[in-house]
Amino acid sequence: MSADVLIIGGGLHGLSAALQAARRGAAVQLVERHFLGRHASGATAAGVRTLGRDGAELPLSLEAARDWHDMEGLVGDDCGFVACGQLQVAEDELSLTKIEMRIKRLQAMGHFHEQMVGPDEIRSLLPGISAHCLGGAWVSSDGSADPHRTIRAFRDAAIRAGVDIIEECLVTALTRSATGWRAETSRGVFEAEIVVNAAGAWADHVSHLAGDPLQHEIRTSMMVVTERSASRIKPVVGSFGKKLSLKQTSQGTFLIGGGSQGKLAADRQSATVDVVALAASMQAAVRVFPELEGVRIVRTWVGMEAMTSDHRPVIGFSQQVEGLIHVFGFSGHGFQLVPSVGRVVADLICQGHTNHDLDAFCVSRVSIERVAA
Ligand SMILES: Cc1cc2nc3c(=O)[nH]c(=O)nc-3n(C[C@H](O)[C@H](O)[C@H](O)COP(=O)(O)OP(=O)(O)OC[C@H]3O[C@@H](n4cnc5c(N)ncnc54)[C@H](O)[C@@H]3O)c2cc1C
Repeated sequence: MSADVLIIGGGLHGLSAALQAARRGAAVQLVERHFLGRHASGATAAGVRTLGRDGAELPLSLEAARDWHDMEGLVGDDCGFVACGQLQVAEDELSLTKIEMRIKRLQAMGHFHEQMVGPDEIRSLLPGISAHCLGGAWVSSDGSADPHRTIRAFRDAAIRAGVDIIEECLVTALTRSATGWRAETSRGVFEAEIVVNAAGAWADHVSHLAGDPLQHEIRTSMMVVTERSASRIKPVVGSFGKKLSLKQTSQGTFLIGGGSQGKLAADRQSATVDVVALAASMQAAVRVFPELEGVRIVRTWVGMEAMTSDHRPVIGFSQQVEGLIHVFGFSGHGFQLVPSVGRVVADLICQGHTNHDLDAFCVSRVSIERVAA
C-alpha cells in the first residue's frame, strides 16, 4: 500500500490535513489505531474560541474563525457550529485588570475581536450570573460546535477528496530509506514519501518510532454533562484564571469542563475521572452560575491529549529526519484550530513550506535534549 503521504492519527487534525492535502492532488492514506475521533477529538467540549488565545496562535485562530463561519463551504456541513458568543468573566478586581490589559495589548496589535463588558452587560448576556462577577471579555462571533458532527463532516469530505482511511490500524514501526517511509502496522505495510505524526497523546511514541525522539506531557481533561435544566444560558462561559468552561446544549443539558484533570494510568494508555478534582470544578461552575446548584450530573468522561510546557502546539517538519511532519500538542485548545492548521500542514506536504510563521510551534522545543537541558 503506497501513497504520497501517510497520516498517523484519525483525530480532527489528521483528518483536516488529509482533506486539504488530497484536495491539492496528493495521494493520502490515513491510519487510525482505533476509530476516527476515539480520543481528544471525540472527547472535546468543542468550544470555538478566539477569546484569550495565546498571541502566537492568534493568526491561525482568527483564520480558523473565518472557516467556522463557513464550514458548509469547507466540508459540506455546518458541523453544528453556533456563534453563541464566548464570555470570560472576572470574579475579582485583579482578573478584571488583567483582562483589560490583555484587550489593550490586542488592540495595540490591531486585533479588536475581544470586547470589554461591564457588570450590566454580563447580566444581560447571562441572566442568572452570580452577583460577585464584575465584568469580563466577550467575543460575539465565537461559539461552539458538535464534535461528532465535525468528525463525520471532515471524514466524509476527506473520503470525497480521495483520502484512503484505514481504521483499527496501529503503526508499530517506521523506517526511512532513500526513497521514503515504510510503516509496519497491524494491517500490513504502508509506504509513503511523507509521514505526518498527528497521533495526539501518543505523538511522542510515534516520534520515537520515526527516529526523532520528542517529549510531551499528557493532559487528561474531564468533562461533565448534567441532566436537563429549565435554566437557559446562551454563550459559552469561562472564568479568568479558573478551570471553567460552561455551556448549555440545545437539549437543555449543561456541558461543564475547563481543564480539570483526571488520573492518567501508569502505562499512559488510558485515564479515569478524579472525583475530588471534578467536585472542585463543579463548585467553580456553581459559583459563577448559582442556578446549577442541585442539578444532577448524568455522565462524566476524560479525554487524553498531548500537552507541551508552553501549551502551544508543535507544527512543522522534523529537524532530525527527512519527510516527517509533526502536528500535535494542542494542550486542550486545538478544536477551534482544526481548519487552519489542516491548511498549514497541507502547505508543508504539498509545497514544502507555508506562509504562516511557525517559529512559535517549532519542533525543537520538545526535542528530548532540549527538554532534558
Ligand atoms: C475534554 C476535552 C475538552 C476540550 N475542549 C476544547 C474546546 O472547548 N475547544 C478547543 O479548541 N479544544 C478543545 N479541546 C482540545 C481539542 O479537542 C484537541 O486539541 C483536538 O481534538 C486534538 O485533535 P488531534 O487530532 O490532534 O488528536 P486526537 O483526536 O487525540 O487524535 C489522535 C489520534 O491518533 C491515534 N493514534 C495514536 N497513536 C497511533 C498509532 N501508533 N497508530 C495509529 N493511530 C494512532 C489515536 O488513536 C487518536 O485517535 C479539548 C480536549 C479535551 C480532551
